[in-house]
Amino acid sequence: VPPQEPPKILRLDNSVVNRIAAGEVIQRPVSAIKELVENSLDAQSTSVNVVVKDGGLKLIQVSDDGHGIRYEDLPILCERHTTSKLSKFEDLQSIRSMGFRGEALASMTYVGHVTVTTITKGQLHGYRVSYRDGVMEHEPKPCAAVKGTQITVENLFYNMSARRKTLQNVSDDYTKIVDLLSRFAIHHINISFSCRKHGAARADVHSVGSTSRLDAIRTVYGASVARNLMKIEVSENDKACSDFKMDGLISNSNYTAKKITMVLFINERMVDCSALKRAIEIVYAATLPKASKPFIYMSIILPPEHVDVNVHPTKKEVSLLNQEVIIERIQSAVESKLRSSNDTRTFQEQD
Ligand code: ADP
Ligand code: MG
Repeated sequence: VPPQEPPKILRLDNSVVNRIAAGEVIQRPVSAIKELVENSLDAQSTSVNVVVKDGGLKLIQVSDDGHGIRYEDLPILCERHTTSKLSKFEDLQSIRSMGFRGEALASMTYVGHVTVTTITKGQLHGYRVSYRDGVMEHEPKPCAAVKGTQITVENLFYNMSARRKTLQNVSDDYTKIVDLLSRFAIHHINISFSCRKHGAARADVHSVGSTSRLDAIRTVYGASVARNLMKIEVSENDKACSDFKMDGLISNSNYTAKKITMVLFINERMVDCSALKRAIEIVYAATLPKASKPFIYMSIILPPEHVDVNVHPTKKEVSLLNQEVIIERIQSAVESKLRSSNDTRTFQEQD
């Protein structure tokens, strides 16, 4: 066979580049909802309501009562890399908002049909406008609006047939969405959240601004969970190796479940940390074998410069400085909590 000519390298069309990137940021309906809810939180909302049709493939609607979006900003709202939250790279180090990439809304317009209705304070009416592939489809139209922003995404992945097919199990995604909103609701206890299927009279998550975290958990996860939780706290300020605070609620020996529930926020961000989760599971298995699938809520606060939020477009995994030390400290706090509660219990039973 004669040696082949090397294939010619071509520059991809912007729309192709953007659609590929969009599929990475918005992996499934629940990832779109996470981005939208985080935008609502960044907009200082006190109420966030989610409606979903067909597991989010047909319709996602997130409504909030936040500060809204300026009329002048609507033309670039859904372009890639447009954001009100970051202006220079150094800002990333102290970023407090959930968003910063300016990619979420843009991504949604490349894989679905996005419509924004918004009103800012002091205005007599709001505006509604739809977007495709990053751009406005028409001039914003004046419309009635009360407060805040409503964003709808219709026909998600209409142009990605493989993705649509793999997501056909719609009830599964709705479960993930309910789970997501439940987690937000028990962390942000001063904000009311709801999540319902389109047309349903009842909401599947409904929190109404609780006075305590335990109340919020009772509302969202039920009394049987709330009744079996214990407070746990760790506070370290050894600047050299670990400087953090952890506040949490963890289940006792009466709580039994088929799988672990781990709700974790680090510096107010909802994240996953599989190493920490595993470490806690190990402690439970060793200390409370019959209750080895715990319910865990933890909020960890670290100096912002110890967290790298920029490791993944979905921002779901963060990496921490001194992660091993932090995990070890939390692990031993959990262990002594479980041991002492177990001791009291045996003591009481003997009484
Ligand atoms: P990011 O959150 O990273 O800035 P997004 O694409 O999610 O990027 O949003 C772009 C911008 O749109 C935000 O920076 C914010 O100014 C505005 N925005 C989005 N959603 C809302 C909302 N619900 N309320 C007010 N402003 C919003
Ligand atoms: Mg955002």
